[in-house]
Amino acid sequence: MSGVSVSRMSPSKSKTSARITEERSQWKGGAVKPWDAGREFDIRGSTREENSLFFWPMQRSLPLTSLSSFALASISVLATVACSHTEALSPPAAAPVAPTMTHNRAEIPDKYKWDVTPIFPSWVAWEDGMKALDAKMGEFAALKGSLAQGPQAVLHAYRLLDEIGILQGKVEGYTELQRDTDTRNQDVSSRFQRVQALSARFGTATAWFTPELLTILQPTMERWIAQTPELGIYRFTILDNYRVQKHVLDEKGERLLSFSTRANDTPDTAFQELSTSDIKFPKVPLADGKEVTLTPGAYQAVLATNYNQADRAKSFEAYLRTYAANANTYAALYNGILQRDWFLAQARNYPSTLSAALDGNNIPSAVVDTLVTTTRQGTGPLQRYLRLRQRLLGLQTYHLYDGYVPIFKAEKHYPYEEAKQMVIASVAPLGADYQAKMKTLLAGGRVDVFENEGKRSGAYSAPIYGAGAFMLMNYNDTMDAVFTLAHEAGHSMHTVLAFQTQPYVTANYTIFVAEVASTMNERLMLKKLLESTSDPKERFVLVQHAVDEIVGTFYTQVLFANFELEAHRLAEQGQPITADVLKDIYGRLLHDYYGDAVTADELYRYTWARIPHFYNSPYYVYQYATCFASSAQLYKAMDTGTAAERAAVTARYLNLLKSGGSDYPMELLKKAGVDLTLRATVQAVVDQMDELVSLLETEAAKIK
Ligand SMILES: [Zn+2]
Repeated sequence: MSGVSVSRMSPSKSKTSARITEERSQWKGGAVKPWDAGREFDIRGSTREENSLFFWPMQRSLPLTSLSSFALASISVLATVACSHTEALSPPAAAPVAPTMTHNRAEIPDKYKWDVTPIFPSWVAWEDGMKALDAKMGEFAALKGSLAQGPQAVLHAYRLLDEIGILQGKVEGYTELQRDTDTRNQDVSSRFQRVQALSARFGTATAWFTPELLTILQPTMERWIAQTPELGIYRFTILDNYRVQKHVLDEKGERLLSFSTRANDTPDTAFQELSTSDIKFPKVPLADGKEVTLTPGAYQAVLATNYNQADRAKSFEAYLRTYAANANTYAALYNGILQRDWFLAQARNYPSTLSAALDGNNIPSAVVDTLVTTTRQGTGPLQRYLRLRQRLLGLQTYHLYDGYVPIFKAEKHYPYEEAKQMVIASVAPLGADYQAKMKTLLAGGRVDVFENEGKRSGAYSAPIYGAGAFMLMNYNDTMDAVFTLAHEAGHSMHTVLAFQTQPYVTANYTIFVAEVASTMNERLMLKKLLESTSDPKERFVLVQHAVDEIVGTFYTQVLFANFELEAHRLAEQGQPITADVLKDIYGRLLHDYYGDAVTADELYRYTWARIPHFYNSPYYVYQYATCFASSAQLYKAMDTGTAAERAAVTARYLNLLKSGGSDYPMELLKKAGVDLTLRATVQAVVDQMDELVSLLETEAAKIK
């Protein structure tokens, strides 16, 4: 967690998402924004290759490490982490490298650019907003000591927090959106920093709030809530503070734990230094005579575009050897993470590191256990896919580094207007109301569509309460861009529906459900695109895109989670943890997941050494997989059965979107008919993979 925990501006567990810069170096040291509570900026690379370098921003409540990093004051904390999404094992690479299309922003028609006036009509109004925010913050600070007076005092404080939160979201959103379309604009950047400074000050000044709230006994508070209808919307948020309180120590204990914060961050900081500052990336000569310095980006590019297997093999060896050369140091640092997690879990009376990590969102450990067990038994379709790749690429032996080159290149181009219509058409199964709202969302002013000089890369969806959803794209006519549009539009529609239904305090969804909405829309898009073409090659490319997504978002992430689980268990059992031990676990897992479908390369066993989120956000990546499983199961249910059954599932799904963050994610999903503690939910992904790989085999047979 590396020093990125902050006091939660508003003490709501459900407000747990944030927007982070894509570059690791920019967030290390904690570019923390408490007012980001309630944003799900999902950054996607504009190309597959780029994706692996991008950090998908996310956030969670994590008592494991973040509680201690916070002084006695607040027990409600939120931690901001950015995770790289795809990693070495994920083969995706169906799309070609995006063409460079830098536009002059002034020449882009307005309908393809953001209209930020729903946030503020002008910078003058923004300045007024800043003043109002400052005043409200002062007003809130003055409430210290008032909460015990009764339910009206609590209500007053929460309402003020809402006003502050909404205003914070707007002043920040207004600056941030404009900064992202021209990162060179110093005026906007300095205004942005003013918002940051103001909010940081507020975070510190309000640390009293949660501890003071908790001095009111829970039965008293429950009585107050029952007696005061206006407090009803805050019920979930308020009571969650009491749930978390069980793992908060007395003042002495908290004080002692707070002293360990800086030391606890050291292994991750050291990892970052070793893997970014001190690392010397190797140079390799390739078959065409050119020499390449294998930075992570250049390495990914070789794997994704170079059809010479010998070049890929050579690059892989040189690249992994760089990490293997420092394996003992990486192992010692990772051991530092494991020991820290176990120390904090024990200090806070959790039975395991896993239960400590999952407690923030109130997720039972069984979810991860079921995920791992079911996936391990469902690797058949994954291995079939790799064998198909080997055959179609004409390779004698197949290695993990062969997983990135496209089998067929996507030749079709999708102009934006066409893609937009397809996105709208694809969501017809979600009903007329959803489709109409999607049409409005994409009508103009909400999506910043094209690349321009100075614009940040990637894609995201930014929710701003009171102003709606804003999407950043760098649309480039590729198939990948079409799916990215569908993905971000899925997030944005989640925002639209939640914001229209929920009061501010429960409007924001957690990452645990966020990717359900986005992957659902990608799946619907795939269906639509497949219906629109009978060309086997085109169909193959489309299906491969979906298959690669399952490999990257599901199988790879579960393997990672499996590794984290085993490594943490060693720490819990007091077993020795060395480079050899970690290498053996990783090697065994590679065999468990990939079987004989890939040649076992010794150096791949060092992969653990270089995965940033093992160090910066333990037990995090499983959420990609659970989201995917949830959406796979919902899609399956929506796509099969009688019309009445399908309609019922669709209605439940829409309710999930509308519920925002009004309950714990597991509860929200259960109401939608998804129980992540059940094997069947995870099996839905395996079934979907099986079906898609069969489709790939069918289409491949038709291609001459
Ligand atoms: Zn997303």
